[in-house]
Amino acid sequence: MPKILIYDSVSQAGLDLLAPRKDIAAVAAGTRDVMLKEIVDADAIVLRYLPLDREAIEGAKRLRVVARHGVGYDNVDLAALNARRIPLATIGEANSVTVAELTLYLMLAACKQGLAYDQAVRGGRFAAREDTDAIELYRKKALVIGFGRVGGRVAPRCRAFEMEVYVCDPYLPQDAIRDQGFTPVMEFREVLPEMDVVTLHVPLTDETRHLIDAEALALMKKGAVLVNTARGPIVDGAAAAKALDAGRLFAAGFDVFESEPPALDDALVQCPRTVLTPHMGALTEECHRRSAVRSMQHALDAIDGCLDPAYVVNPEILP
Ligand code: NAD
Repeated sequence: MPKILIYDSVSQAGLDLLAPRKDIAAVAAGTRDVMLKEIVDADAIVLRYLPLDREAIEGAKRLRVVARHGVGYDNVDLAALNARRIPLATIGEANSVTVAELTLYLMLAACKQGLAYDQAVRGGRFAAREDTDAIELYRKKALVIGFGRVGGRVAPRCRAFEMEVYVCDPYLPQDAIRDQGFTPVMEFREVLPEMDVVTLHVPLTDETRHLIDAEALALMKKGAVLVNTARGPIVDGAAAAKALDAGRLFAAGFDVFESEPPALDDALVQCPRTVLTPHMGALTEECHRRSAVRSMQHALDAIDGCLDPAYVVNPEILP
Protein backbone atom coordinates (compact mmCIF):
# COMPACT_ATOMS: atom_id res chain seq x y z
CA MET A 1 0.00 0.00 0.00
CA PRO A 2 1.42 3.47 -0.88
CA LYS A 3 2.48 5.45 2.15
CA ILE A 4 2.50 9.20 2.91
CA LEU A 5 4.88 10.31 5.64
CA ILE A 6 3.86 13.49 7.44
CA TYR A 7 6.98 15.00 9.00
CA ASP A 8 5.70 17.29 11.77
CA SER A 9 1.99 18.08 12.10
CA VAL A 10 -0.45 19.44 9.53
CA SER A 11 -3.91 20.94 9.82
CA GLN A 12 -6.94 18.65 9.99
CA ALA A 13 -8.01 20.03 6.59
CA GLY A 14 -5.03 18.21 5.04
CA LEU A 15 -5.74 15.00 6.93
CA ASP A 16 -9.37 15.15 5.76
CA LEU A 17 -8.15 14.61 2.18
CA LEU A 18 -6.83 11.23 3.28
CA ALA A 19 -10.08 10.01 4.83
CA PRO A 20 -11.64 8.68 1.58
CA ARG A 21 -8.33 7.12 0.46
CA LYS A 22 -8.44 3.74 2.16
CA ASP A 23 -5.84 2.60 -0.38
CA ILE A 24 -3.18 4.86 1.13
CA ALA A 25 -1.47 4.65 4.51
CA ALA A 26 -0.43 7.78 6.39
CA VAL A 27 2.23 7.86 9.08
CA ALA A 28 3.32 10.84 11.17
CA ALA A 29 6.88 11.45 12.32
CA GLY A 30 7.74 14.09 14.88
CA THR A 31 11.44 13.33 15.26
CA ARG A 32 14.33 12.77 12.89
CA ASP A 33 14.82 9.19 14.14
CA VAL A 34 11.22 8.22 13.35
CA MET A 35 11.41 10.04 9.98
CA LEU A 36 14.60 8.16 9.01
CA LYS A 37 12.89 4.84 9.75
CA GLU A 38 9.58 5.67 8.07
CA ILE A 39 10.95 7.36 4.95
CA VAL A 40 12.54 4.11 3.77
CA ASP A 41 9.26 2.82 2.27
CA ALA A 42 7.36 6.12 1.97
CA ASP A 43 5.99 7.16 -1.45
CA ALA A 44 5.53 10.80 -0.45
CA ILE A 45 6.62 13.03 2.39
CA VAL A 46 4.78 16.16 3.52
CA LEU A 47 7.46 18.34 5.02
CA ARG A 48 7.21 21.41 7.20
CA TYR A 49 10.34 23.13 8.62
CA LEU A 50 12.42 20.17 9.77
CA PRO A 51 15.45 19.44 7.59
CA LEU A 52 15.40 16.73 4.95
CA ASP A 53 19.05 15.97 4.33
CA ARG A 54 21.00 13.71 1.99
CA GLU A 55 21.05 10.79 4.43
CA ALA A 56 17.23 10.79 4.63
CA ILE A 57 16.81 11.18 0.86
CA GLU A 58 19.28 8.42 0.04
CA GLY A 59 17.54 6.12 2.53
CA ALA A 60 14.17 6.58 0.78
CA LYS A 61 13.63 3.68 -1.59
CA ARG A 62 10.21 4.60 -3.09
CA LEU A 63 9.91 8.36 -2.66
CA ARG A 64 7.92 10.00 -5.52
CA VAL A 65 7.58 13.52 -4.12
CA VAL A 66 8.70 15.83 -1.36
CA ALA A 67 5.68 18.05 -0.73
CA ARG A 68 6.83 21.20 1.11
CA HIS A 69 4.14 22.68 3.35
CA GLY A 70 5.46 26.15 2.37
CA VAL A 71 7.44 27.78 -0.44
CA GLY A 72 11.00 28.18 0.90
CA TYR A 73 12.96 24.95 0.56
CA ASP A 74 16.34 25.75 2.06
CA ASN A 75 15.66 22.92 4.58
CA VAL A 76 15.82 20.35 1.76
CA ASP A 77 18.97 19.00 0.08
CA LEU A 78 17.81 19.72 -3.48
CA ALA A 79 20.99 18.31 -5.05
CA ALA A 80 20.33 14.99 -3.31
CA LEU A 81 16.73 15.01 -4.60
CA ASN A 82 17.88 15.81 -8.13
CA ALA A 83 20.41 12.96 -8.01
CA ARG A 84 17.52 10.61 -7.20
CA ARG A 85 15.18 12.37 -9.69
CA ILE A 86 12.63 13.08 -6.97
CA PRO A 87 10.39 16.14 -7.52
CA LEU A 88 10.05 18.82 -4.85
CA ALA A 89 6.63 20.53 -4.90
CA THR A 90 5.79 23.66 -2.93
CA ILE A 91 2.42 25.25 -2.17
CA GLY A 92 2.91 28.07 -4.70
CA GLU A 93 0.68 31.04 -3.94
CA ALA A 94 -1.18 29.49 -1.01
CA ASN A 95 0.72 31.56 1.59
CA SER A 96 1.72 34.67 -0.39
CA VAL A 97 -1.05 36.98 0.77
CA THR A 98 -0.57 35.82 4.35
CA VAL A 99 3.13 36.73 4.35
CA ALA A 100 2.36 40.01 2.59
CA GLU A 101 -0.10 40.90 5.35
CA LEU A 102 2.44 40.08 8.07
CA THR A 103 4.99 42.23 6.25
CA LEU A 104 2.64 45.21 6.39
CA TYR A 105 1.90 44.47 10.05
CA LEU A 106 5.63 44.52 10.90
CA MET A 107 6.14 47.65 8.80
CA LEU A 108 3.32 49.47 10.57
CA ALA A 109 4.19 48.16 14.04
CA ALA A 110 7.81 49.27 13.53
CA CYS A 111 6.82 52.73 12.25
CA LYS A 112 4.19 53.25 14.93
CA GLN A 113 6.31 51.72 17.73
CA GLY A 114 3.17 49.73 18.48
CA LEU A 115 4.65 47.44 21.11
CA ALA A 116 6.30 50.24 23.11
CA TYR A 117 3.08 52.26 23.16
CA ASP A 118 1.09 49.18 24.15
CA GLN A 119 3.44 48.67 27.10
CA ALA A 120 3.18 52.35 27.98
CA VAL A 121 -0.62 52.20 28.27
CA ARG A 122 -0.51 48.97 30.27
CA GLY A 123 2.22 50.43 32.50
CA GLY A 124 0.21 53.54 33.32
CA ARG A 125 2.46 55.78 31.19
CA PHE A 126 -0.23 57.37 29.01
CA ALA A 127 1.90 60.51 28.71
CA ALA A 128 4.27 58.47 26.52
CA ARG A 129 2.14 59.72 23.62
CA GLU A 130 3.99 63.03 23.92
CA ASP A 131 7.22 61.25 22.89
CA THR A 132 5.96 61.36 19.26
CA ASP A 133 8.14 58.34 18.63
CA ALA A 134 6.17 57.21 15.57
CA ILE A 135 6.55 57.86 11.86
CA GLU A 136 4.28 57.57 8.80
CA LEU A 137 4.36 55.48 5.66
CA TYR A 138 2.58 58.21 3.72
CA ARG A 139 4.69 59.45 0.79
CA LYS A 140 7.71 57.48 1.99
CA LYS A 141 9.88 55.49 -0.40
CA ALA A 142 9.65 51.70 -0.07
CA LEU A 143 12.10 49.28 -1.65
CA VAL A 144 10.70 45.79 -2.21
CA ILE A 145 13.56 43.35 -2.86
CA GLY A 146 12.23 40.26 -4.64
CA PHE A 147 9.07 40.64 -6.72
CA GLY A 148 7.70 37.10 -6.73
CA ARG A 149 4.50 35.84 -5.15
CA VAL A 150 5.02 37.65 -1.82
CA GLY A 151 6.89 40.76 -2.99
CA GLY A 152 4.34 41.13 -5.79
CA ARG A 153 1.63 41.42 -3.14
CA VAL A 154 3.60 43.62 -0.75
CA ALA A 155 4.29 46.29 -3.39
CA PRO A 156 0.61 47.16 -4.12
CA ARG A 157 -0.16 47.10 -0.39
CA CYS A 158 2.60 49.69 0.13
CA ARG A 159 1.07 51.73 -2.68
CA ALA A 160 -2.29 51.56 -0.89
CA PHE A 161 -0.56 53.50 1.91
CA GLU A 162 0.43 56.08 -0.73
CA MET A 163 4.10 55.11 -0.61
CA GLU A 164 6.38 55.52 -3.62
CA VAL A 165 7.36 51.95 -4.41
CA TYR A 166 10.69 50.79 -5.89
CA VAL A 167 11.23 47.15 -6.80
CA CYS A 168 14.51 45.26 -7.15
CA ASP A 169 14.26 41.90 -8.90
CA PRO A 170 16.94 41.63 -11.59
CA TYR A 171 15.62 38.20 -12.62
CA LEU A 172 12.34 39.60 -13.97
CA PRO A 173 11.72 41.69 -17.09
CA GLN A 174 12.03 45.26 -15.78
CA ASP A 175 9.15 46.38 -18.01
CA ALA A 176 6.81 44.05 -16.11
CA ILE A 177 7.67 45.93 -12.91
CA ARG A 178 7.28 49.33 -14.59
CA ASP A 179 3.95 48.28 -16.20
CA GLN A 180 2.53 47.70 -12.72
CA GLY A 181 3.40 51.24 -11.73
CA PHE A 182 6.55 50.55 -9.68
CA THR A 183 10.06 51.85 -10.26
CA PRO A 184 12.44 49.02 -11.22
CA VAL A 185 15.92 48.98 -9.69
CA MET A 186 18.65 46.64 -10.96
CA GLU A 187 21.22 47.27 -8.20
CA PHE A 188 19.52 47.80 -4.85
CA ARG A 189 22.61 49.32 -3.18
CA GLU A 190 22.39 52.31 -5.51
CA VAL A 191 19.01 53.37 -4.12
CA LEU A 192 19.47 52.37 -0.46
CA PRO A 193 20.48 55.89 0.64
CA GLU A 194 17.06 57.20 -0.49
CA MET A 195 14.78 54.46 0.83
CA ASP A 196 12.65 54.93 3.94
CA VAL A 197 11.53 51.31 4.14
CA VAL A 198 13.34 48.21 2.84
CA THR A 199 11.46 44.93 2.78
CA LEU A 200 12.92 41.55 1.80
CA HIS A 201 11.17 38.90 -0.30
CA VAL A 202 13.96 36.87 -1.90
CA PRO A 203 14.72 33.19 -1.35
CA LEU A 204 17.76 32.27 0.73
CA THR A 205 20.52 31.39 -1.73
CA ASP A 206 24.30 31.77 -1.79
CA GLU A 207 23.67 35.12 -3.49
CA THR A 208 21.17 36.43 -0.93
CA ARG A 209 22.90 35.22 2.27
CA HIS A 210 23.73 38.44 4.18
CA LEU A 211 22.40 40.51 1.29
CA ILE A 212 21.79 43.11 4.00
CA ASP A 213 25.20 43.18 5.64
CA ALA A 214 27.07 45.90 7.54
CA GLU A 215 27.99 47.57 4.25
CA ALA A 216 24.38 47.69 3.00
CA LEU A 217 23.17 48.88 6.41
CA ALA A 218 25.73 51.69 6.32
CA LEU A 219 24.28 52.75 2.95
CA MET A 220 20.72 52.89 4.27
CA LYS A 221 19.09 56.22 4.92
CA LYS A 222 19.31 57.39 8.53
CA GLY A 223 15.98 56.63 10.16
CA ALA A 224 14.97 53.90 7.69
CA VAL A 225 12.93 50.84 8.60
CA LEU A 226 13.96 47.29 7.67
CA VAL A 227 11.52 44.37 7.43
CA ASN A 228 12.47 40.73 6.92
CA THR A 229 9.78 38.10 6.45
CA ALA A 230 11.85 36.04 3.97
CA ARG A 231 14.66 34.08 5.66
CA GLY A 232 16.81 35.08 8.65
CA PRO A 233 20.29 34.67 7.10
CA ILE A 234 19.42 37.23 4.39
CA VAL A 235 20.18 39.86 7.06
CA ASP A 236 23.36 40.01 9.16
CA GLY A 237 21.44 40.17 12.43
CA ALA A 238 24.34 41.39 14.57
CA ALA A 239 25.07 44.20 12.12
CA ALA A 240 21.35 45.13 11.97
CA ALA A 241 21.17 45.28 15.78
CA LYS A 242 24.21 47.58 15.81
CA ALA A 243 22.58 49.86 13.22
CA LEU A 244 19.42 49.98 15.35
CA ASP A 245 21.26 50.59 18.61
CA ALA A 246 23.25 53.36 16.96
CA GLY A 247 20.01 55.02 15.83
CA ARG A 248 20.97 54.57 12.21
CA LEU A 249 17.74 52.63 11.59
CA PHE A 250 14.52 53.88 13.14
CA ALA A 251 13.19 50.37 13.76
CA ALA A 252 12.96 46.93 12.20
CA GLY A 253 10.53 44.03 11.96
CA PHE A 254 11.66 40.41 11.83
CA ASP A 255 9.63 37.24 11.39
CA VAL A 256 12.74 35.18 10.62
CA PHE A 257 16.14 34.83 12.30
CA GLU A 258 19.59 33.54 11.49
CA SER A 259 19.06 30.82 14.04
CA GLU A 260 15.53 29.75 14.96
CA PRO A 261 14.43 30.09 17.63
CA PRO A 262 16.84 32.96 18.32
CA ALA A 263 18.71 32.91 21.64
CA LEU A 264 17.15 35.14 24.26
CA ASP A 265 20.38 37.14 24.38
CA ASP A 266 20.41 37.53 20.57
CA ALA A 267 21.09 41.18 19.78
CA LEU A 268 17.87 41.49 17.73
CA VAL A 269 15.81 40.01 20.55
CA GLN A 270 17.41 42.36 23.08
CA CYS A 271 17.01 45.43 20.87
CA PRO A 272 14.07 47.66 21.94
CA ARG A 273 13.60 48.93 18.36
CA THR A 274 12.69 45.56 16.84
CA VAL A 275 9.21 44.12 16.40
CA LEU A 276 9.41 40.33 16.32
CA THR A 277 7.20 37.42 15.34
CA PRO A 278 8.15 33.72 15.61
CA HIS A 279 8.36 32.77 11.89
CA MET A 280 4.58 32.75 11.71
CA GLY A 281 4.32 34.66 8.42
CA ALA A 282 2.27 31.87 6.88
CA LEU A 283 0.59 30.68 10.05
CA THR A 284 -2.85 32.18 10.01
CA GLU A 285 -5.63 29.72 10.55
CA GLU A 286 -6.73 30.12 6.93
CA CYS A 287 -3.25 29.70 5.48
CA HIS A 288 -2.42 26.72 7.69
CA ARG A 289 -5.45 24.97 6.18
CA ARG A 290 -4.59 25.98 2.58
CA SER A 291 -0.98 24.84 3.02
CA ALA A 292 -1.99 21.46 4.43
CA VAL A 293 -4.53 20.86 1.66
CA ARG A 294 -2.12 21.88 -1.12
CA SER A 295 0.84 19.85 0.18
CA MET A 296 -1.31 16.78 0.89
CA GLN A 297 -2.82 17.06 -2.59
CA HIS A 298 0.72 16.99 -4.04
CA ALA A 299 1.44 13.82 -2.07
CA LEU A 300 -1.76 12.16 -3.36
CA ASP A 301 -1.21 13.38 -6.93
CA ALA A 302 2.34 12.02 -7.02
CA ILE A 303 1.05 8.63 -5.89
CA ASP A 304 -1.73 8.83 -8.50
CA GLY A 305 0.78 9.84 -11.20
CA CYS A 306 -0.71 13.30 -11.80
CA LEU A 307 1.54 15.70 -9.89
CA ASP A 308 1.04 19.24 -11.27
CA PRO A 309 4.45 20.31 -12.67
CA ALA A 310 3.55 23.98 -12.11
CA TYR A 311 4.31 23.49 -8.41
CA VAL A 312 7.55 21.55 -8.92
CA VAL A 313 10.73 23.54 -8.28
CA ASN A 314 13.00 21.03 -10.05
CA PRO A 315 10.89 20.25 -13.16
CA GLU A 316 14.01 19.29 -15.14
CA ILE A 317 13.97 15.89 -13.40
CA LEU A 318 10.37 15.12 -14.40
CA PRO A 319 9.93 12.52 -17.16
P1 NAD B 1 9.10 33.61 -5.22
O1 NAD B 1 10.04 32.55 -5.69
O2 NAD B 1 7.75 33.71 -5.82
O3 NAD B 1 9.79 35.04 -5.37
C1 NAD B 1 11.13 35.29 -5.07
C2 NAD B 1 11.60 36.38 -6.00
O4 NAD B 1 12.91 36.79 -5.59
C3 NAD B 1 11.71 35.94 -7.47
O5 NAD B 1 10.93 36.80 -8.29
C4 NAD B 1 13.20 36.05 -7.77
O6 NAD B 1 13.45 36.47 -9.10
C5 NAD B 1 13.64 37.10 -6.77
N1 NAD B 1 15.06 37.08 -6.46
C6 NAD B 1 15.88 36.01 -6.31
N2 NAD B 1 17.12 36.42 -6.01
C7 NAD B 1 17.08 37.77 -5.96
C8 NAD B 1 18.05 38.78 -5.68
N3 NAD B 1 19.31 38.46 -5.40
N4 NAD B 1 17.66 40.08 -5.72
C9 NAD B 1 16.38 40.42 -6.01
N5 NAD B 1 15.42 39.50 -6.29
C10 NAD B 1 15.78 38.21 -6.26
O7 NAD B 1 9.01 33.39 -3.65
P2 NAD B 1 7.85 33.97 -2.69
O8 NAD B 1 6.73 32.99 -2.61
O9 NAD B 1 7.57 35.36 -3.05
O10 NAD B 1 8.61 33.91 -1.29
C11 NAD B 1 9.79 34.69 -1.07
C12 NAD B 1 10.53 34.13 0.11
O11 NAD B 1 9.77 34.40 1.29
C13 NAD B 1 10.64 32.60 0.07
O12 NAD B 1 11.82 32.18 -0.59
C14 NAD B 1 10.66 32.20 1.50
O13 NAD B 1 11.99 32.01 1.95
C15 NAD B 1 10.05 33.38 2.22
N6 NAD B 1 8.79 33.01 2.88
C16 NAD B 1 8.70 33.20 4.22
C17 NAD B 1 7.52 32.84 4.86
C18 NAD B 1 7.36 33.07 6.34
O14 NAD B 1 6.68 32.30 6.99
N7 NAD B 1 7.94 34.12 6.89
C19 NAD B 1 6.48 32.25 4.13
C20 NAD B 1 6.61 32.13 2.76
C21 NAD B 1 7.78 32.50 2.15
